[in-house]
Order: sequence, then C-alpha cells, then structure tokens
Amino acid sequence: MSELDLNEIKERAEAASPGPWEAGDVWYVAGVIFDDERQRVGPGKKATRCAMCHLGAPVASGRWDINGTRMQAHRHHTDDPYAPEHRISSADGGVVAGNYDYEAGGILRPEDTAFIVAARQDVPALVAEVERLREQVTAMTVAASERRDYYTARCAQMEADHAETVAERDRAREIAVALEQENAHLTGRLAAVVNLEGRWDVLGDDDGPAMWVSLGTLLDLLRGW
Ligand SMILES: [Zn+2]
Repeated sequence: MSELDLNEIKERAEAASPGPWEAGDVWYVAGVIFDDERQRVGPGKKATRCAMCHLGAPVASGRWDINGTRMQAHRHHTDDPYAPEHRISSADGGVVAGNYDYEAGGILRPEDTAFIVAARQDVPALVAEVERLREQVTAMTVAASERRDYYTARCAQMEADHAETVAERDRAREIAVALEQENAHLTGRLAAVVNLEGRWDVLGDDDGPAMWVSLGTLLDLLRGW
C-alpha cells in the first residue's frame, strides 16, 4: 500500500458536495405564492409564504425554477425526510445519491446510507487526526534526537573525565613507588649510621686505624645523602 496522501484525500473531500450529509430527501423547495393568511396571492398583493412554510422558517430563499417557472421560492428542511434509508442530502440543498427511486440507482442497503453519510465527517476527521499524529511524531523525533545528542556529548565528557582520573591515579602510584624507594634508601642509610655509631662507641685507645675506616665510611654515607 502506498503512503497515505492526505492532500489528495483532502482535495476529494473539499470537492464533494458540502456536508454534513443527511439520510433521506431533507429539502423541500416551493414557490412563494401565499400570503401571511395562507391565502393564494391575488393581483397586486405580496406573497410571503410557500406551501412548506409550516415546517418553520426557510433555510434559504431565492428565485428558482419551480416546475418550469422561474419564481421566488423557499427551501425548507424537514426532520421527517422521504426515503431516509435510500437517499442522501447535502448541506447546500442538493441530493448526493438516490435521485431516483432506489431500484433505478439509489442506495440499496440502509447500512450503506449510514456509512456514506458518516464518511462526509469521518474522512476529514481522520485526515485531521493523521495530521495531528504526524506532527506529534515529528515533534517526538526532534525531541529524541536532541536527547540523543545531549547524552552523546555527556558520555564523551565522562569518558574524558575518566581518562584524566586514570592518568592521575597512575601518577599517584608512581609517586608512591618513588616515595617507597626513597624511604627504603633513607632507612638503609639510617641503619648504616646507627651501625657506625655502635662501632664508634666500642673503639679503644689503640683503635686508630679502625677509627679512620669508620670516618671514611661516614664520609661515604654523607656523600650518599
Ligand atoms: Zn416557505
């Protein structure tokens, strides 16, 4: 099925007889030939009523062709139309279907009449609904795309932050290792000094050569700090 062309559907709906449509022949058109007392107008008197004015005020009036004679006429609406299951009237006083007795081309099934009459409103309503939904889908697509862009940027930022944190951790580890080595070095030196001091204490009067050895070691140690 090809994509729904709303413009084509709308064009067809707008070109059709104006709605709403009603079941049956709802319009009566009659010449204005009576006065307010419902008397046929005589010479020199003004006619105000037609034969259908008992239905209420006319929906429209004008000069129309009535049985071959052009004359002032009324169009009236009836709530009790002729052939309501087989004919359809448009809003402008016309007949959409069933101009003849239904055996000769009218609508055969009452269900079809109901469907066609309702279609006059249903089709424009469906078109409007599809348009509304399409607008909604477009808006949602735009919103989703904006959210995707936002989170993509956020992810990139978080990844960059993470990389920086890892680098910082690695630097801290290197410093810790260096400090550990320095600590071991100093501890060793300290132990050597303590050892030297011990030896210094036990030196006797004739321990001159041993003292020089110890002094030499002390100088080496000091150079190493
Ligand atoms: Zn009338």
